Amino acid sequence: MIKQNVCQILNELPNGVELVAAAKTRQPEEILAAVEAGVKIVGENYVQEAVRAYEVIGNKAKWHFIGYLQRNKVKKAVRLFDMIETVDSVEIAKEIDKRCAQIGKIMPVLIEINSGREKQKSGVFPEKTEQVVKEISTCPNIRIMGLMTMGPRFGNPEDSRPYFVETKKIFETIKKLNLPNVEMRYLSMGMTNSYKIAIQEGANIVRVGSKIFGERDYAKGQDEPS
Ligand SMILES: *Cc1c(COP(=O)(O)O)cnc(C)c1O
Repeated sequence: MIKQNVCQILNELPNGVELVAAAKTRQPEEILAAVEAGVKIVGENYVQEAVRAYEVIGNKAKWHFIGYLQRNKVKKAVRLFDMIETVDSVEIAKEIDKRCAQIGKIMPVLIEINSGREKQKSGVFPEKTEQVVKEISTCPNIRIMGLMTMGPRFGNPEDSRPYFVETKKIFETIKKLNLPNVEMRYLSMGMTNSYKIAIQEGANIVRVGSKIFGERDYAKGQDEPS
């Protein structure tokens, strides 16, 4: 099933749009099956799960961090991941910068936008984005490569569209500033129920979980800290 799902999604994706397989709660063997079917990027929400999966899959895929990054996990995260999609504060950026400096790595990151301005969710509020990007762009061991957003969860994916539109607008505004050390190349938006709409609104990274691996089994502890 995983193989057919991946093939179907990859066949339908427009050129230039990259698929991230959102792998939270999945077993390393399931993730490996997705990679063998053509997935090139694995997205992990938890550092500990990523370590387990990495032992099986290693460099057969690129690794994107897509969860909430705790400060005490940064040291491990910068060793394993090729991109951190969820940078949403100057504080966490400085920790990433410091840990990368220690291992001589430049970390590509996306700035996470809280496009729904939801108090309980992570991400930078739209109106704060420019200031946060400017501050983080001074970190020598970080390279800002674009923006990521989740947006509020809706039953009807069409309701997500305005949040994707707004994030794309911020993306273009920041791109026009031509800031040093900022290369606005990636816009990561859309999940299983909304990625087609996200692509229409300019996403070039989509993060898909359930449509690849099937429904998540919540009993396996999706929301447990790693
Ligand atoms: C779980 C998750 C996804 C994928 O969700 P699905 O609805 O299973 O496709 C995408 N992005 C992030 C940040 C996630 O945590």
